[in-house]
Amino acid sequence: METIQIKDKRFKTFISEEQILKEVARVADEINRDLADANPLFVSVLNGSFMFTSDLMKHLTIPCEISFVKLASYQGTCTSGCVKELVGLNNDITGRTVVIVEDIVDTGLTMERLLETLKAKNPKDVRIASLLVKPDKLKVDLHIDYVAMNIPNDFIVGYGLDYDGLGRNYRDIYTVIED
Ligand code: 5GP
Repeated sequence: METIQIKDKRFKTFISEEQILKEVARVADEINRDLADANPLFVSVLNGSFMFTSDLMKHLTIPCEISFVKLASYQGTCTSGCVKELVGLNNDITGRTVVIVEDIVDTGLTMERLLETLKAKNPKDVRIASLLVKPDKLKVDLHIDYVAMNIPNDFIVGYGLDYDGLGRNYRDIYTVIED
């Protein structure tokens, strides 16, 4: 078992790159099957989903488009739990099938809010593809169409996910070691 140190926290290997890529390929197969005729627009939520988005796209064989967005906190007035604003979506999604590509759904509050924002723009359908879900932490009734892996409640880093800006570059996913 490999351990890494990021700032004040130690982490240990939790999900290997091999396992991640296998599950990402499975999700891509499901999307290829479900949305073959839909010309979906993938909306990738930065920063955390960049690796997932990249590996997912490599396995998609259907006609599709991609856009990258961010959820930005209002400057200066926001602490955690504050509503975030969607920035960077320049596409007209009216009548389109949209697939949100997210790194992790924890309480689901971020995703619920993003769904509301996108649905207000009159798409035909909005689906969710999440690399990771913590089912025991979900606070809202959310249907997540495509899930690569369900995980326990512990804090994780790697494969795009960070701890205080660090750790996104690791190929595997690591879980925190509680001292
Ligand atoms: P939610 O609104 O579902 O509670 O939170 C979703 C966001 O919280 C994710 O997009 C991610 O930025 C962050 N998050 C939740 N759990 C973790 C975790 O275990 N590790 C990291 N790095 N970020 C997390």
